[in-house]
Amino acid sequence: MDCVFCRIIRGEEPAYVVYEDDYVIAILDKYPISRGHTLVMPKKHYRDITEIPSEELCRVIEVVKVVTMAVMRALKAPGVRIVQNNGAEAGQVIFHIHFHVIPMTGHASSRHYLTDEEGREVSAALSREVREILRAGGDNT
Ligand SMILES: [Zn+2]
Repeated sequence: MDCVFCRIIRGEEPAYVVYEDDYVIAILDKYPISRGHTLVMPKKHYRDITEIPSEELCRVIEVVKVVTMAVMRALKAPGVRIVQNNGAEAGQVIFHIHFHVIPMTGHASSRHYLTDEEGREVSAALSREVREILRAGGDNT
């Protein structure tokens, strides 16, 4: 099975990592809808929400929450859209379950390829903010 997210998780393919622990990884989307568009997923391969054990889903959603708080703070995003697609008909393109965390500014944004400059800058800002939120216990867990 060839899965681009599994390759990234194994370190065989580059990505800008926002957060990582033993179970969950958050990376910047390579084709972001807006600045800070992040993907959060389990490190283990599951096709969709029906396959992932609930306990692992909870770990993933906890990171979704912290990343959402981080994009609000670090990127001053007034709104955040969270999207999770199941099945090609729903718009799922990569069949390794993932959540999209998409900062929304209220302005029209154009999807574009992530540049190295944007990737470095945004992933550094977000990972710094995620660490700060977790350190301060600011995720209310
Ligand atoms: Zn995978």
